[in-house]
Amino acid sequence: MFKSFLIKYGEIGVKGKNRYIFEDALVKQIYFALKDVDGEFNVSKEQGRIYVDTVGEFDYEETVEALKRVFGIVGICPMVQIDDNGFDDLCEQLKGYMKAVYGEKQITFKVNCRRARKNYPLTSMEMNAAIGEKILEAFPNMTVDVHKPDVLLSVEVRNKINIYSEVISGCGGMPIGTNGKAMLLLSGGIDSPVAGWMIAKRGVELEATYFHAPPYTSERAKQKVVDLAKQVAKYTGPIKLNVVNFTDPQLYIYENAPHEQLTIIMRRYMMKIAEELANKSGCMALITGESLGQVASQTIQSLYTTNEVCTMPVFRPLIGFDKQDIIDISERIGTYETSILPFEDCCTIFVAKHPVTKPLLHIIKKSEEKLGEKMDELVKISIDSVEVVHCS
Ligand code: ATP
Ligand code: MG
Repeated sequence: MFKSFLIKYGEIGVKGKNRYIFEDALVKQIYFALKDVDGEFNVSKEQGRIYVDTVGEFDYEETVEALKRVFGIVGICPMVQIDDNGFDDLCEQLKGYMKAVYGEKQITFKVNCRRARKNYPLTSMEMNAAIGEKILEAFPNMTVDVHKPDVLLSVEVRNKINIYSEVISGCGGMPIGTNGKAMLLLSGGIDSPVAGWMIAKRGVELEATYFHAPPYTSERAKQKVVDLAKQVAKYTGPIKLNVVNFTDPQLYIYENAPHEQLTIIMRRYMMKIAEELANKSGCMALITGESLGQVASQTIQSLYTTNEVCTMPVFRPLIGFDKQDIIDISERIGTYETSILPFEDCCTIFVAKHPVTKPLLHIIKKSEEKLGEKMDELVKISIDSVEVVHCS
């Protein structure tokens, strides 16, 4: 019976005169989310409301699932829209609606009328009372509860009249594209896809960088990262993934730096390269999946030392999360199954047995100086030979 959805949005409703920017971004993202769903859709906005109308046959479940992935939506209301043929007709239609949706169920309800068109002959209060009465007459099994009703029957009088009573939760946040772009350091692990998803949820478009070290890391490990980017892209829209061949810089560090400093130096170069790629494509922040204390490279001293190479803000949305909290999100957003596939994103030969957990910046810098110009050359070659994979 539902041919339309009323889309409720949260925070973007309060953006004053820039509101249309947010609404337009939301409309665009809704179209993107629906592009692979069976059916034809029309997304429109009208006075602080966004509607998704369907044309002909469509898959209801798939449509709702797709809308649940759009950042910026707080509620999805399957809606019936009718023409205004007078109040009596409205009451008849509402009775038909209640019968179809709730049938003989024993429920409490409350009518909530709103009039965007103030010339309607009854006030909202009068409408509430009159409609409530009609429903009580028609359904002896229903009662009114104005405080905690099972069903809030909303009736909005606009050019047409909107009727809805179910609100399916959306994922909240802000529409992608309203908050610039950031570069996600995406590995094959559990954390970084979650970190990217969290920042994207605040309206940030994502680009991604993956450091690949063939033949030490396999093609399958790379494919895993591509798959993760595709999964995140279901929420964000297409993600441009930069695959950096990091083998030569990594081998060079391995051969020329103290073993226990490998990880930290390698991470500093990763950040440096990611920042350069970010600058090239107009990103204004980096995103990592780091969480304080999780591993040796994520102690406060290590983070201090890696962060020092960047001038761009580095977003670490998981910094205060426990691993289980991160796993819970990754399961919810659908990246977990891929993340736990056993293809390592980093070869064990590059992992020190006893990494420093409290690196000192001046010592690390000294080691890096010894790497000399040769290292800069290798880094430049890596940057110049980036392979781009479009993930969607
Ligand atoms: P993840 O689960 O995201 O792999 P992790 O717990 O394995 O994280 P680290 O390996 O220390 O932690 O990596 C910390 C962060 O550095 C990652 O979350 C990711 O943002 C980035 N990173 C690590 N390895 C790579 C890589 N090969 N390519 C791109 N980014 C990486
Ligand atoms: Mg990892």
